[in-house]
Amino acid sequence: MSTTIDPSSRPVAGLVERTVRRLACLMVRHQYRVARQMNPGARKVVCDRCGSAWGMHDATRAFVPWDADLEAAYAPGGPLDPAHYKG
Ligand SMILES: [Zn+2]
Repeated sequence: MSTTIDPSSRPVAGLVERTVRRLACLMVRHQYRVARQMNPGARKVVCDRCGSAWGMHDATRAFVPWDADLEAAYAPGGPLDPAHYKG
């Protein structure tokens, strides 16, 4: 019977890696990248290192964590659906 432990099956390894990545972002800065341009004044920004995401809105100078509410607002048929709302 084998006693070898497959590293990919240990959930703690992923947790440690995510923690280290977040610490790196806290100590240096996030590696920001525009993931989605909803309209000329609004975009979704992500960090490829820690996986965080934010919504950025120029008119209100807002930079807030991307959550389910923002996702729903910019989804097709949502109140800020980019196909209809251009603000
Ligand atoms: Zn980050």
